[in-house]
Amino acid sequence: MDLKVNSSVATPDERDAVNSVLGKPTQYSQGGIRNEQDLRISRAGEALRNLRHMLLPTLHAVNDRVGWISRGSINYIAQQLDVAPAEIYGVASFYALFSMTERPKRQVHVCIDLACRAMGGLREDQLPLGTHPSPCLGTCERAPAVLVIEAGDPARHEVLAPATPVEISALAKGAWPDAEATVMSATPQAIGDSTKLVLLGRIGKVDPLSITDYQEHGGFDALRKAIQLGATGVIDEVNASGLVGRGGAAFPTGRKWGAVAGQPVFPHYAICNADESEPGTFKDRVIMEGDPFALVEAMIIASFATGCEQGFIYLRGEYPRAIRNVQNAIDESTKHGFLGDNILGSGFNFALSIVRGAGAYICGEETAIFNSIEGYRGEPRNKPPFPVEVGVFGKPTLVNNVETLVNVLSIVKDGGAAYAALGTDGSKGRKLFCLSGAVAKPGIYEVEFGITLRQLIDLGGGMRSGSTMQAILLGGAAGGFVGPNDLDLPLTMEATRAAGSSLGSGVVMVLDQSVDMVDQLRRIAAFFRDESCGQCVPCRVGTVRQEEIVSRLAKGVQSHDIELLRELGTVMRDASICGLGQTANSAIDSAINKLKVFAV
Ligand code: SF4
Repeated sequence: MDLKVNSSVATPDERDAVNSVLGKPTQYSQGGIRNEQDLRISRAGEALRNLRHMLLPTLHAVNDRVGWISRGSINYIAQQLDVAPAEIYGVASFYALFSMTERPKRQVHVCIDLACRAMGGLREDQLPLGTHPSPCLGTCERAPAVLVIEAGDPARHEVLAPATPVEISALAKGAWPDAEATVMSATPQAIGDSTKLVLLGRIGKVDPLSITDYQEHGGFDALRKAIQLGATGVIDEVNASGLVGRGGAAFPTGRKWGAVAGQPVFPHYAICNADESEPGTFKDRVIMEGDPFALVEAMIIASFATGCEQGFIYLRGEYPRAIRNVQNAIDESTKHGFLGDNILGSGFNFALSIVRGAGAYICGEETAIFNSIEGYRGEPRNKPPFPVEVGVFGKPTLVNNVETLVNVLSIVKDGGAAYAALGTDGSKGRKLFCLSGAVAKPGIYEVEFGITLRQLIDLGGGMRSGSTMQAILLGGAAGGFVGPNDLDLPLTMEATRAAGSSLGSGVVMVLDQSVDMVDQLRRIAAFFRDESCGQCVPCRVGTVRQEEIVSRLAKGVQSHDIELLRELGTVMRDASICGLGQTANSAIDSAINKLKVFAV
């Protein structure tokens, strides 16, 4: 039996942090003061256990206040929620932003991932004292990036990008990033006339914190139209638009909405997957920072169409500005009657809140989000049952990512047919691409599907001066590499699929001659080894073996190691539970096959 009882007690600060989320304990078994009634009966066990979904926010509260999660605070949370301490430890230790050991209040997380590495960022063995390596911080257009967190009441979170080694050392010693310098500077751009921007049309033009400004620029017009159309009318338009999910899986959005709307079991829940963690992806952040009301409006429309009365935006913990701006948009929308009861007199009630992620790439998988929101380890669930039938809290759940949702605004306003007229037969509408690396103007580009890779790079000003193209990573670490000979590849789902690649979440990372490709592959292998949730063997063991083989190949190429790597890739792809394991080998495989990295 491995039950370990320890008598650690929470400090007053830790108790206060827990109470700020859960309230003061009302009985002795919860950690409160013993009274006479407590001697005779045990109260509220089931009611307490129903608060399990408060675990993640409670852990955040403690981590924010004191900088780590002590045994004493775990014991106190365990009493408050009536959950075993070991379970709480299991959840807390799952997330990278939480620490289970004491550490300084100031934490400096330096991105060591693909885009930052390619742009001269520090590698893990070059980090100054007092800093930590971090996976992609989603600020690739301004690489290299660093996230600073300082525990306290309130805690402070800020991103600095680009950050020089001198600035990083200064942050570790106590300097604080200039907030103005961290303001989004990746100007969204479209072909030619910038008034053609639709998804990004308000970004940089409106005050992201002002609901008045939002309404003066067309805000909530789509919601009014949606209420006129009615739930079925909205779903018809989304179906007619041909919109498919922009998170990577490309499932038809209208079909998903229809499936949730048709479920006889209630309540229905809506979740916005804003846990954008794919290395090289930053489009959802730009939307949430620059046009947060658009996301709130789109969530209201999606929930109205599918009969959801409660929604969650599961938002990356590494996006402090996005968290602040989206929370402000929710608060303002509630104040102005766009959230809450009887929205715009329609009889529709909808409540929306943010669930802050805590540093886990796998929580971008839709069923892992359910577990994370419910207060469990963010491990994916087996499918079926599918989320539209059995999702969060066991109820029908709609999950869409940020880009997918904001597309709905123009679909509702202008009609699905107008949207479907854009793009190609197999890939309809508009797409956001995250252009990063050795281009003159990295940033978010809004284009119609069908533009070629060459055209997109030209939009980004072509290669930066002094750079020669070596390779392009499409779709992020879970995507694949193409070479300079593939520049005429149309950026559509059908063309990239046919070319054995993937658009994924819209990453286009251009690597020049200065990039060590073997180093990039080692980082990809390390990334998946780190981020595997460990639940299924092919991925848990496979990602470790993959990293070992890539490291061996880096020292000297052996053909049997290449064969072993391919075989391993096949096993992970065919036998892993979720997309992480299924795609953990794809970029490495493409580098070997297309770019001939490790050619004997
Ligand atoms: Fe977890 Fe990897 Fe299995 Fe997905 S494939 S469930 S990340 S171990």
